[in-house]
Amino acid sequence: MGDPVRHSLSPVLHNAAFAAAGLDWVSAAFPVAAGQAPEAVAAVRALGLEGVSVTMPHKAVVAGLVDRASPTVELLGAANTIVRRAGELVGESTDGAGFLDAVGREVVPAFDPAGRRCLVVGAGGAARAVVLALAGAGASEVVVVNRSRQRAEAAAALAGSIGRVGSAAEADRADLVVNATPLGMDRGPGPAVGDGRCGPLPVPPERLGPGQLVVDLVYHPLLTPLLAAAQAQGASTLGGLGMLVHQAARALVLWTGAEPSIEAMRAALGPLG
Ligand code: NAP
Repeated sequence: MGDPVRHSLSPVLHNAAFAAAGLDWVSAAFPVAAGQAPEAVAAVRALGLEGVSVTMPHKAVVAGLVDRASPTVELLGAANTIVRRAGELVGESTDGAGFLDAVGREVVPAFDPAGRRCLVVGAGGAARAVVLALAGAGASEVVVVNRSRQRAEAAAALAGSIGRVGSAAEADRADLVVNATPLGMDRGPGPAVGDGRCGPLPVPPERLGPGQLVVDLVYHPLLTPLLAAAQAQGASTLGGLGMLVHQAARALVLWTGAEPSIEAMRAALGPLG
């Protein structure tokens, strides 16, 4: 459920995993306008749906509508997944774990945050999930860079003593650089935001180089201006589809108890995957 949601790739991923596992389940996109989450969650109860994937603009409000929230949802104040357990609706957040799975499985060599310095650009829902996950995975430092200082401080606080607010110019000190803003997203006709002509990149490209992993959570286009610049500087890169697939896989495990086929999910994305 979300708005807009009609072109969401989530049902494509879910249905591919259900089919590969031989499960008689189906996932469909429900457009739910802002302010209508309470009615939608009541419908989930009444209809006996097994689970919901929650996206913009409902993640925060859904965290307060479920019967129980996971510890991660309590910390983030946002849920991206609803799971029915013993008749109760439980709010979960799979974004952070999905991010860690993506950097652990989709790049060679695998990236283990333990003891590594990380810089996250953005302080919204996705950034907060990534910051919390990196701290939980043992990062030595998580620097948050954001347009508005107050949100940056709140996001950095999620990392406890290893979190702080910083600037994009510090990217050259980081082992991992993550863009968790919409900068670089292709919004249709016209030049992309952050392509160097009509807006800034999330970090100055000259601060990127060999030995670093640069992850963009944006996946449209697949090769964002940031990733292209990072590759030109010799850094390793990972696009946003990695996190998208792995956060969905985590939700599928919560709903069905079965480990989904990542290969089937990727194949369902066609040329995108
Ligand atoms: P959000 O909660 O709205 O947060 C957006 C963040 O980006 C905020 O920190 C905001 O700064 C910053 N921002 C927005 N426009 C900006 C600009 N023009 N210049 C600089 N900073 C800007 O959004 P979100 O849910 O965290 O999503 C962020 C991005 O991650 C989106 O592109 C989304 O598609 C992507 N995403 C990908 C996945 C995945 O699975 N790959 C999952 C979730 C999200 P302020 O705080 O100053 O407003």
